[in-house]
Amino acid sequence: MIKSAYLQRVYNDVLTRDPNEKEFHQTVLEVLESLDQIIDQHPEYERRGIIEAFVEPERIISFRVPWVDDRGGIHINRGYRVQFNSAIGPYKGGLRFHPTVNLSILKFLGFEQILKNSLTTLPMGGAKGGSDFDPKGKSDDEVMRFCQSFMTELQRHIGQFVDVPAGDIGVGGREIGYLFGQYRRVRGTYAAGVLTGKGLTFGGSLVRTEATGYGICYLTQEMLKHMRNDSFEGKTVVISGSGNVAIFATEKAMQLGAKVVGLSDSNGYIHDPDGIKLDVIKDIKLNRRARIKAYADEVPGSTYADGFRGIWSIPCDIALPCATQNEIDAGTAKLIVKNGAMAVTEGANMPCYPEAVQIFQEAGLLVAPSKAANAGGVATSGLEMSQNSMRYSWTFEEVDHRLKDIMANIFQNIYHAAEECGKPGDLVVGANLAAFKKVADSMLTQGLI
Ligand code: NDP
Repeated sequence: MIKSAYLQRVYNDVLTRDPNEKEFHQTVLEVLESLDQIIDQHPEYERRGIIEAFVEPERIISFRVPWVDDRGGIHINRGYRVQFNSAIGPYKGGLRFHPTVNLSILKFLGFEQILKNSLTTLPMGGAKGGSDFDPKGKSDDEVMRFCQSFMTELQRHIGQFVDVPAGDIGVGGREIGYLFGQYRRVRGTYAAGVLTGKGLTFGGSLVRTEATGYGICYLTQEMLKHMRNDSFEGKTVVISGSGNVAIFATEKAMQLGAKVVGLSDSNGYIHDPDGIKLDVIKDIKLNRRARIKAYADEVPGSTYADGFRGIWSIPCDIALPCATQNEIDAGTAKLIVKNGAMAVTEGANMPCYPEAVQIFQEAGLLVAPSKAANAGGVATSGLEMSQNSMRYSWTFEEVDHRLKDIMANIFQNIYHAAEECGKPGDLVVGANLAAFKKVADSMLTQGLI
């Protein structure tokens, strides 16, 4: 519930202007509820229309993406780039290729990205883009032709000082390679800083592949240490998803002494009470691009069940939802609480409905919100941009060390912001406030743009 009349008016305008964008409404409401804590101390935000501007993207680009499949069939997909806010730096945010992609989802992700990027302390504005194209089941050549067509249009809207896309669901190293190749071909310039998540042989950064998953665990470790005097050591962990984020969260949680017993994909989930065998899952998902069901066929003692939500029936100490948005509803949250979890870190963007977060917080679980927890990915993209500008590469250890420092700083910032506004321990509010202040003050200082 929003208390401030000004914030409520802004929210009502968002609902009226785009009534069908439910994911976008959900994230705007969460952030405006947090801003309630500080809005009275900042009359200048209302006077200068800062919140109205904050919820309206600077620019939305939508375009046709024609491509030809291996049998000669013609397909037309829709491509988008939402350039949401560039007050603190060039637009930065991933590209998602998934059949569910629409403007509501990209606006929600772009809006979250503004705040996430602000938390990293690096100079990056917020954006998100993608397409309703489904890479699943497509050949490498089909994916290449799609990426080339997508970039043929996108290239006119991006650049190292303008907008720097990266990966997200359905866009990994393979897709970034094809996108970068097409950018280079069309523009006739080797501008490495135009995309991040590149291969290591053409300007990519060590640790970028691992960064989001590792960062989630670094932030969780800080939260456990400072708020419970505890750690991952000896804990049982369940992680949803089995893509880039989930796999490297699994790797780091194991390195920190935890046992990961469950992973999922959009069809179902696996349970391995002895602990997931990382090499097997990496081979299945990263090399063979197969379904997670294959794990149970290959590893004795493990089981597979249909339906991805069932994963949350596996008891755990720490839950890391790392698949997609709105995976954990109130019923699932109650189950996780009943099974005795102590912490939930949102690895995916907005994996929990607001009711679920409330249930966790009321039950005394630690909750780390996604815009803080998964910021390690974009932070390391920022480090990739720095290395591209310097024409220099840091070692794995150097980048990992910086990532760890960034995640520790993010934890401190959001923890103290929550305390300062009188909501100690509420890292959801803390993250929104710590992130918003810098963006809002930059918008104020730069005048109406
Ligand atoms: P991937 O495409 O590598 O993996 C996504 C995983 O989630 C797959 O296991 C996929 O299963 C599952 N999944 C996707 N959609 C659904 C769905 N509707 N229902 C159930 N499961 C689903 O993506 P990432 O690992 O890169 O991204 C995961 C999350 O992390 C997303 O929310 C993304 O926005 C967020 N994120 C990613 C960052 C990155 O650096 N990659 C950075 C910050 C946030 P299946 O294979 O069956 O589709």
